Order: sequence, then structure tokens, then C-alpha cells
Amino acid sequence: MSGNHPKVLIIFRNDDLCAWSDPKHESELLRLFNDFKVPVTLGVVPKVRGWRLDENKAILRLLERAQSDGHELTLHGLMHDHHEFEVLPVSELERRLNEGQRLMQDWFGQPAMTFIPPDNAWRPELLPILANEGFEVLSSGPPLLPLISPPIFVVDAVARFRFTPLKPLIRYLASLPLPLPLPLVIYFHSWEVRTKAHWDRMKNILQTIAETPNVVATTFSNAVRQFPNTIKVWTEWRQDRDMVQRWNNAFAHNRFYKKRLLFRYWTEVNAGNIPVSSLQNWLVEIFEAALSSTNGRC
Ligand SMILES: [Zn+2]
Repeated sequence: MSGNHPKVLIIFRNDDLCAWSDPKHESELLRLFNDFKVPVTLGVVPKVRGWRLDENKAILRLLERAQSDGHELTLHGLMHDHHEFEVLPVSELERRLNEGQRLMQDWFGQPAMTFIPPDNAWRPELLPILANEGFEVLSSGPPLLPLISPPIFVVDAVARFRFTPLKPLIRYLASLPLPLPLPLVIYFHSWEVRTKAHWDRMKNILQTIAETPNVVATTFSNAVRQFPNTIKVWTEWRQDRDMVQRWNNAFAHNRFYKKRLLFRYWTEVNAGNIPVSSLQNWLVEIFEAALSSTNGRC
């Protein structure tokens, strides 16, 4: 590895492991990640719409095995109600986090260290409550919220597996002269990797990670243990509301909107056979715009 640190920290986030999960599909998916020695962070929903995870013993055992294989188990809401951790009163958020952590402790011998809000929806009052319940990391998704001295680490996702050309992005980020590693969270759901086209895409991305120098695949808990300074620096620029706005604008810019839709169309309809190279590069262009808007502060 050139230099003293990796360039990109890739964190895969598979949300929605719950009583309704299919053990056969989940176990095939975990095997794929294990084959490439890539850890995944698994978002566990303890009581999806009231169905307790331990009613599905095969999934419970699969998650125990995943934990001992080095994957991270995180709390992904309690019931996964729509925008659960954005709309409920604070006292109810506290109660749900507390119950979720108790169930994680009972089932897996330890509470979760990372919290992923359902629908990536949350509000700033949640941060101190998470700290009180023993969480050290929050991972949400776009649009990014401004952060003023968060009491825990925040490592948000901007790239969703199914809709984004990740291969050129990973290669581009790994080639940048960044002073610190850049965390790249890729989130997906198991049901998005069901068809052969999507399975092959996932395999292709895992292959790219294995082949690209200076790229390290990790989990949230390992990332904050091994690279706490990096994650802190990546959070600091979000104190600046204007900069957060510019970053969000870069991702929502209509210049990329059509390319995003076309990319999605081609991956859905044509098994990933994308005819135009610019459709592969729009995410790189967004990152170029977003990174330049942070003015080299990262
Ligand atoms: Zn979810």
C-alpha cells in the first residue's frame, strides 16, 4: 500500500435484516462477501412491524455467525415504521432505542455500536439520545444534515448500490491525492441483489475493490476504531451549513438527473450493459463537484 494510509474506506451497509428475511438468500449473499473477504454492516430490525427477529431462528443463527465472521450487526430502528426516528416524540425514540439495545444484547451478547435510522430519516435531537444508549456511530443518507459538535461519529451514505455506477467512482477516489482516507458508504437491501444482473454487478464491484490498490473494505465500528481522526475530519466540514448545502446541491443537481435515470434504466433493463460511457461517469462528476465545494478541507 503506497503512503501510510489507504485512500478509500469502503463500508457496505445492508439494511433491513429482520424476521421477514429469507435465510437462504441472506446466506448466499454473505458467502459472496466472505469470498471476497469484504465485511458488511448489517442493519437489524428487531421487531419489524411487531414481528420479532427471534421468530425467525434461521436468521437469528445466520446473524450470530455473521458477527463471529467479522461482520458488524447494527440497530436499524425498532419496528421500521415509516420515518420512525424522525417523526416520533423524543420520549418514544428513547424507549425504542432502549428496547432495541436490550434485544441486541439478549440475542447477540452485546448492544449495537452503530445506528442506522429507517428511511435514512432522523433529526438532530437524536444524537445525544444515541450517545446515552451507548451508540458510537450514526449512519444515515442524503440529503446530509449540518452537524454541530456531534457527540458521536457520523458516517453517512451517499451511494446506493442499485442506482449508482460505483466501479469508476472507486477507481477515481483511490487515485486522488487525499491527505486522509475518504469513507465511502455503499448501502443496499438484500432484495436489490436478487436478479442475476444485480448479483453480477455486486460481484463486479467486490472484484474492483479487491483489485484497486489503497482501497480498504471495513465496517463502521472498525473504521472509527482504526481511523478515528479521519472520521472526525470528515464530520467537521459539516458544521458549515453553506458547505453542506453545496454538497447536497451537487448530488441533486439536474445536470446529473437524466444520466442517473438513464443509468438506472440500462442497469434494470439491459443487465448492466451500459452503452454510453458518460452514463458511467456522472457519479465521479458529482464527487468532483462536491469535493471541490469543501475546498480541500478534507
Ligand atoms: Zn430500512
